[in-house]
Amino acid sequence: MTNRFTDQNKRLTDFQTTVWVECPSCTKKAIAKVDYETAKAILFCESCGYNKQKNTESTVFGVKGNWNLDAHSYFDAELWLKHPFKNEVFFAFNGEHLEYLEQYIAADLREHKERTGFTLLEKLPKFYHEAKNRKALLAIIQKLKKK
Ligand SMILES: [Zn+2]
Repeated sequence: MTNRFTDQNKRLTDFQTTVWVECPSCTKKAIAKVDYETAKAILFCESCGYNKQKNTESTVFGVKGNWNLDAHSYFDAELWLKHPFKNEVFFAFNGEHLEYLEQYIAADLREHKERTGFTLLEKLPKFYHEAKNRKALLAIIQKLKKK
């Protein structure tokens, strides 16, 4: 059976507003969320009750403003779903993102709709696409799923 993957043209921005992070207090899994409309970001941990709120005002390239960053960036928090791979780092923002990558990497047949240059898959570093890395990457994904 051919394992077919159809690119849903997802972008990183589809996943970046809810990011699984390492709790700054207890190092267990916590969640960072951002709402660009209200310009508020929050990081909370169900394990230890850590809870921090911020507004989205930050300085990027020397320019201060309400930037639409990845949710964890407002807190300088470490990603929960990341793993070294050769000289690179494999990462996902959350479980949904991890599954999307898994489906892509596991597929033998990858169908892309019109290329835009902006989708998450098109922007992935080369190692994600290489067939020789498939097994190792899927093993990392399984490991992260159990984390
Ligand atoms: Zn915690």
